[in-house]
Amino acid sequence: MNDEQLLRYSRQMMLPEIDASGQQKLLDSRVLVIGIGGLGSIASLYLAAAGIGHLVLVDFDKVDLSNLQRQVIHATPDIGKLKVESARDYLSQVNPDTNITTIDHELDETELIKEVKVADVVVDCSDNFRTRFAINAACVKSGTPLVSGAAIRFEAQVSVYNPAHEDSPCYRCLYGTETELDQSCTANGVIAPLLGIIGSVQACEAMKLIMGIGESLEGRLLLLDVMNMDWHSARLKKDPQCPECGGRGRNDVPGQAAS
Ligand SMILES: [Zn+2]
Repeated sequence: MNDEQLLRYSRQMMLPEIDASGQQKLLDSRVLVIGIGGLGSIASLYLAAAGIGHLVLVDFDKVDLSNLQRQVIHATPDIGKLKVESARDYLSQVNPDTNITTIDHELDETELIKEVKVADVVVDCSDNFRTRFAINAACVKSGTPLVSGAAIRFEAQVSVYNPAHEDSPCYRCLYGTETELDQSCTANGVIAPLLGIIGSVQACEAMKLIMGIGESLEGRLLLLDVMNMDWHSARLKKDPQCPECGGRGRNDVPGQAAS
């Protein structure tokens, strides 16, 4: 680390749990962020500012006026630009240390697995179940930890799935084969700061996973209702019938139970 980096990261490096070794892990890490909307705006911003060495941003959308209320990494002059380019331009100003790769098309299964395999952590900031299930499947196959967040209206959820651990549930354990739950902010609306809160939790969990510190949200689903400003935590168990990870590891536990 050079003098500039020592100064840039000093306020997190002075935390004994992080120190120079934690910072070095962040600088050496590669994080895949899928979706540069409301959650991805905030998650990628904190990850870049914290000194993640290599960020891979995936989104095939262009910035639209109706995005700006919540997708705060994009600004009015960015309307019409690819979201990944708009995000890269801003993040590289925030921290020129961070290498940024942009992918502006939807990844097919082979590409997705290739990207997930080389990532230390995957941060799912997508807005639909099809994409979330595909990301989860790639993470289960490659054993890469997944930080998954979702928000709609006044409610959100966030968790960590770590398929490297045998008894860790996967995202699919939570939903099984239900896909009729698909709802999007585009169709249902969302209050913007909720995305900021959940995107921040995702960035924080990704950093902790990379540095190997603290207790992650693995096995716990954190639910937030901002209308009543109420946090709730639900325990997640591996589903033996899970179409993605069922049959792997110890499958003698029930589905999902609220704590
Ligand atoms: Zn599963």
